[in-house]
Amino acid sequence: MIRGKNIFVEKEVGRRDFLKLSTKVATVLGLSPVFIPKISYAMQAKEKPAVIWLHFQECTGCTESLLRAEGPDLATVILDVISLEYHETLFAAAGHQIEEQLHAAMKRYAGNYVLVVEGSIPMKENGAYCQIGGKTAIDMLKETAAGCAAIIAIGSCAAWGGLPSSGPNPTGAVGVGDIIKDKAIVSIPGCPPSPYNFLSTVVHYLLFKKLPTLDKEGRPVFAYGKLIHDQCERRGHFDSGRFAEDFGDEGHRKGYCLYKLGCKGPSTFGNCPEVGFNREKTWPVNIGHPCFGCIESKVGYTVPMHDLSQVLTPNPPQSYAQITESGNKPASMWAAGVAGAAVGAVGAAVVAKAKKLPAEEE
Ligand code: SF4
Repeated sequence: MIRGKNIFVEKEVGRRDFLKLSTKVATVLGLSPVFIPKISYAMQAKEKPAVIWLHFQECTGCTESLLRAEGPDLATVILDVISLEYHETLFAAAGHQIEEQLHAAMKRYAGNYVLVVEGSIPMKENGAYCQIGGKTAIDMLKETAAGCAAIIAIGSCAAWGGLPSSGPNPTGAVGVGDIIKDKAIVSIPGCPPSPYNFLSTVVHYLLFKKLPTLDKEGRPVFAYGKLIHDQCERRGHFDSGRFAEDFGDEGHRKGYCLYKLGCKGPSTFGNCPEVGFNREKTWPVNIGHPCFGCIESKVGYTVPMHDLSQVLTPNPPQSYAQITESGNKPASMWAAGVAGAAVGAVGAAVVAKAKKLPAEEE
């Protein structure tokens, strides 16, 4: 940990925005409102964890997602909640200068820094497909991991190989956990993941001095414990049997369920509907694109886009999603009530129908 400055004073992140952010982090972490002041305090603490951030085989979308989040400017917040010692995309320096900075940071914070890895690691041809400063990604990862306190594998590429590992995986791309076996690794998959999940992981560490509870794939349970399908604003349409049959058709324009267009929400665990991306809390499904399942190693980049998803929870969730006939505006109480009453009667039959391939019905 190193000492730093108070961004909320020096960089004029407004008090209201800061409070909103602290509340959002508490929500993401599933903490009660009494933690909000503690979260605020943790984010302003002068002791900041040193972070070395590596880029391997990837598109830099995870960093981009972080930089594009606003309200408040999340990049400003995150990059001041941590002490960023090395980041190839954001640093102005390059070449030998930046390599010296990396080694100086590894030495200065030996045993204490957090290693963030973005991108997969190609294993074929002895790692020749990704080299930085003359070193393969394999060697660079092993070298930096040796002295770190913990690793955060950000994005699906670093978590399990992601897009570069999709068939036929020409470079032999793998995730961090396939190479490093003796360190605590927190995986935050997504293509890209929500930056709030990264920030919440860091805040959890600052608040409780330990990593969050992880599932069997090393993902924080607070972010990856719930099925997307159970939180989706279109779930009412699914349960009522209203589906978009094609992109741009009437059902699609009315905001109906995207299951028949290949939505993988029914077999993907994540908090995208709840947390969202960018300023207006968008996520693919609420702008009309089916969930791709990018979080799940056995779904995203594995199951073809238009294949129907396995439905893990055919019964409607207890907290019934609001539905609407047009777009994604909140439904009236009357509409929600009617749909809620109807769904109990028709739910099972509708789900059985929904499981059939669209081609079979047309
Ligand atoms: Fe939402 Fe997709 Fe589930 Fe439909 S299938 S309710 S669009 S997650």
